[in-house]
Amino acid sequence: MLYKETTSLIIVCPSCKGEGTVKEGNLREMHNHDSVTCPDCDGKRIIQMIKTIEYKKIRHMMIIKLVGALPRELKDAGLRTGDKLKAEPAENTTLGAVKVKLWKDEADYHVTIWPENFQKINVL
Ligand SMILES: [Zn+2]
Repeated sequence: MLYKETTSLIIVCPSCKGEGTVKEGNLREMHNHDSVTCPDCDGKRIIQMIKTIEYKKIRHMMIIKLVGALPRELKDAGLRTGDKLKAEPAENTTLGAVKVKLWKDEADYHVTIWPENFQKINVL
């Protein structure tokens, strides 16, 4: 699986600006300026390292042709044997199903099509 890794370092705490302490008045908006340990970095002045890993799923769109006796769900969606549709691999299945995006009532939704109901025509 492809992934992109990004590491961000924040060396100096933005709250205390690297002092390790903050004026209490800044925290409580009082006129009392005693210094207290910075609550954000706990006085260590270094707050965090953020590591972001983005996983990218590669999906291959394809054109399929519907074959065989279609299940009711597909017929109700207005699909017919012989229709050619743009499809993509369905998630969470190792069975080779694909999903097709359809429109209904101005919203899109997906239907799953099982291997017995389609032939791949080509991969886009
Ligand atoms: Zn701090």
